[in-house]
Amino acid sequence: METRRSSRIVVLGSINMDLVVHCQKLPVAGQTIMAKSASEFCGGKGANQAVAASLAGGEVTMIGAVGSDAFADRLIDNLKTHGVVCESVSRCEDHASGLAVIAVDARGQNSIMVVPGANAAVTPERVRAAESFIRKSDCLMVQLEIPIESVIEGIRIARKHGVHVIVDPAPAPTEFPNSLLEVDFLCPNETEATALTGMPVTTVEQAKAVAIRLHEMGARVVAITMGEKGTLLHHDGKSTWVPAIHVEAVDTTAAGDAFAGALAVRWAQTDDLLDAVCFANTAGAIAASRHGAQDSIATYEEILKFGKQKT
Ligand code: ADP
Repeated sequence: METRRSSRIVVLGSINMDLVVHCQKLPVAGQTIMAKSASEFCGGKGANQAVAASLAGGEVTMIGAVGSDAFADRLIDNLKTHGVVCESVSRCEDHASGLAVIAVDARGQNSIMVVPGANAAVTPERVRAAESFIRKSDCLMVQLEIPIESVIEGIRIARKHGVHVIVDPAPAPTEFPNSLLEVDFLCPNETEATALTGMPVTTVEQAKAVAIRLHEMGARVVAITMGEKGTLLHHDGKSTWVPAIHVEAVDTTAAGDAFAGALAVRWAQTDDLLDAVCFANTAGAIAASRHGAQDSIATYEEILKFGKQKT
């Protein structure tokens, strides 16, 4: 049994209910169709990464907001069930909880509508109210599904207290302030890396060039995730290609969230960037090999066992 350092992670981000509707064909404008089934899942990038970090062995606190509707209790209960501390999750009387309506057709193609709801009420003031949690943590992890000024405020507070910051710049931003990139660790996927730099990312060589550019733009460490291909890690002037673990992929939803959560925890535990990316790659591969979003995310023990089997 290996010894582990504690890893206190604060996740600042979105909490959504995902309503997934399965239909034969996606409806076109003006059309009403009969769908086959509908299911509700707890989601949101912030909540997914909080669950992933907790399952990967972190002590996780979430900063976010839910509404005053029937989904609110379920969303908070789900986080608590996964061991996430929810003292800094606000309940907003004047909002509904964040909602994603996801239509999936028989070929697996989807169309998604997201209503931010209470996620839009995660204001800089609410982030400041959670400063004591950020100050006591090893790492603050943020994404871009809450107001950008609140993300920036979280980064500012973390830096003030010498807390590491990981930014997952998802969904891909169209505009972004410099301070979003002036962080310890940036982990975009290919699309997001292109959105940030205007440079293509389809090959490992291109990923290297883009990672160097993102470093020049302010990020100390960059990990560009490239799905089934793997991850390009760039730090201290050198780039390392970490190939993905081969799996039979059935559903890549939340693979990036599983990656980010595991990365934060392992980096805090070992302070070893390459080890953290290998661990995170394993978590991403397991998530891709299972159905669902949060349901597909592996525990610490599963990640270690799977990683050993595959090496
Ligand atoms: P996102 O979901 O943000 O687009 P990626 O698809 O790049 O993120 O996945 C994150 C990481 O998860 C990848 O870098 C890789 O290590 C792992 N991963 C994702 N999809 C697969 C897959 N099909 N097979 C193996 N590993 C995968």
